[in-house]
Amino acid sequence: MAKELSDSVAVLAGVGPKKVQALNKLGINTIEDLLTAYPFRYDDYAARKITEIGDQEKVALKGTVATEPVLSHFGRQKNRLNFKLLVEHDVIMVTFFNQGYLRSKIELGKELTIYGKWNHKRQSLAGMKILADENSNELGGVYRSSKEIKQSQVKKIIEQAYSEYEDVIVDIIPDCLIKKYRLLSRKEIMHGIHFPEDQKSAKLARRSGIFEEFFLFQARMQYIKENENINNGLKIDYELEKLKQFIANLPFELTNSQKKVVNEICHDMHLQRHMNRLLQGDVGSGKTIVAAIIMYAAITAGFQAALMVPTEILAQQHAIKLAQLFEPIGVNVALLTSSTVTRVKQKRELLSNLKKGTINLVVGTHALLQPDIEFANLGLVVTDEQHRFGVGQRQILREKGKSPDVLMMTATPIPRTLALTTYGEMDVSTINELPKGRKIIKTQWLKNKQLASAYEFIERKLNNSSQAYIVSPLIEESEAMDLKNAEEIFDKTTERFGSRYHVGLLHGKMSSDKKENVMTAFKDHKIDVLVATTVIEVGVDVANATVMMILDADRFGLAQLHQLRGRVGRGDKQSYCLLISDPKNEYGIARMQIMTETNNGFVIAQKDLELRGQGDILGNKQSGMPEFKLGDPINDLRILQIAKEEAQQIIGDERFKQKKENEELIKYLNRTLLGTSFD
Ligand code: ADP
Ligand code: MG
Repeated sequence: MAKELSDSVAVLAGVGPKKVQALNKLGINTIEDLLTAYPFRYDDYAARKITEIGDQEKVALKGTVATEPVLSHFGRQKNRLNFKLLVEHDVIMVTFFNQGYLRSKIELGKELTIYGKWNHKRQSLAGMKILADENSNELGGVYRSSKEIKQSQVKKIIEQAYSEYEDVIVDIIPDCLIKKYRLLSRKEIMHGIHFPEDQKSAKLARRSGIFEEFFLFQARMQYIKENENINNGLKIDYELEKLKQFIANLPFELTNSQKKVVNEICHDMHLQRHMNRLLQGDVGSGKTIVAAIIMYAAITAGFQAALMVPTEILAQQHAIKLAQLFEPIGVNVALLTSSTVTRVKQKRELLSNLKKGTINLVVGTHALLQPDIEFANLGLVVTDEQHRFGVGQRQILREKGKSPDVLMMTATPIPRTLALTTYGEMDVSTINELPKGRKIIKTQWLKNKQLASAYEFIERKLNNSSQAYIVSPLIEESEAMDLKNAEEIFDKTTERFGSRYHVGLLHGKMSSDKKENVMTAFKDHKIDVLVATTVIEVGVDVANATVMMILDADRFGLAQLHQLRGRVGRGDKQSYCLLISDPKNEYGIARMQIMTETNNGFVIAQKDLELRGQGDILGNKQSGMPEFKLGDPINDLRILQIAKEEAQQIIGDERFKQKKENEELIKYLNRTLLGTSFD
């Protein structure tokens, strides 16, 4: 069979079911996914001069082994390997922790290049790895990995895929653009980013790669839009009286902002045209109830509604709330997550009820996207914290109905110009006030050495029968470390509060049943302090929790910190946010200061943009924008705009389908936008 980039990664020799699964979890299904799973940074393996390196810098040093290595054991299963290395005229100490197996490679008089972290004061290198001599690539890509699949394995598989598939990597972007913008070919881009010779060639490949990525993204948006114009939208003829009744029966009065956006959205749904709308509102501004109201509107018009959320915890929480709200009035609510769909009997029943239309409202995770899930008449899709879903995923869900209306909700405001370039021509509704009676969350920045007093503070609040969250530091590169960290903090916290308070632990690796149990226990106040990884970041709503402590807070971007802080201050009690950190750079300090100065999500988003414009990379993730692998919509805004104009031209061309030079682009669109037919 001919090789194609759409082949599953399973075709590679040595990639068995376990590895396939691990790769899938990283979002890598096909060879193409693999080849575009670019390194998020590079380690610089070019040997450096001691006089040129700064304290704590990660560097490669080349030298001659000057003493026999000494291996010493300490603690349980811990060891340390020490030896001296002569680097030009300096003798430095090299130490490897828990890599005792390296001893055999270190021979007196042998020349070695070692990569590690430099300690200037001690003139020593904390070794991370010994670089192979034949290592000609002086930049080593660092890839996303997980507990199931190591960095080095990912790297090896990518190398293997590249060498086997390099001949079938063809240009997707029409030739005229490649010439016009002097871009590298797709093959050169992939080679240059994965295996660069030096910083300069990596940068060059990236530049073309960013254009390619933005262009393909915009082409998909454009393609979908053209498609929508052909299909007419739905007219959702809701029953106004029922809706009024429903709103009147809510336990609180809507804020003026909520009323305004409900009106805007209802008006839009009622029109024949297709609704494509963004609802933005700060954390805690009450977007969920707005979603409930408009979903109810669609249901009174005889349609089904779906609410799609990024995490199981959030899906469960929403399902419980919505069921309470809706069951008394005869609206059927169901929950669909990957753990419900694994229970065969339950799944069968659920699917058949969705197809029959006896379920009116379904809440779910990306499990909603599975091909076997069919609706009787899906009229409205709401996505919560939408930036977590790719365009393709939203498109799939949309195709499950006859072009249902779409509302995307986000707590991370996006400047309008950017929203237009990243999402296409979208309408925006904004909630710009919080419900009455909310107190400003008091935020304090403390150094690590003040941690004890932070714990004392938490204890005082617990004594007042409040609850607290402790968020463990974010370690992007390794899920395993993430987990280990959370567990350590859990142990420490348990020790600290002894038998007086109950401490719970919540992390992403737990089964969803377990997660649900822990969340329910926290809600019911059977747990006083919840130690958690960032799984709690979005949407979790426990009003009695009044303290949010974030450890190593400088590892989080502003948007994420604001989201985390938004988990408290949800009731009428005074709430607090404690940021514990010793920032390592000016951006970290700036982020801490901004957080202590304002509670306003719109202000924070603006500051976030400014910092990112200056080069703060931490903010780039979780930014409320679609996630790109290479490009950054802020720093590369110009490229994004050009890519958009070009995509509009090319896709909008009446003869788009006939032109030979669009052949590969059309193939690409068809394989990435399943089911979108253009005829
Ligand atoms: P978010 O916009 O962050 O998703 P939620 O929808 O979770 O916010 O709402 C936060 C809390 O505020 C919830 O407990 C919700 O019940 C409550 N709430 C929403 N609207 C109002 C209102 N108009 N008055 C009082 N409380 C409200
Ligand atoms: Mg929410």
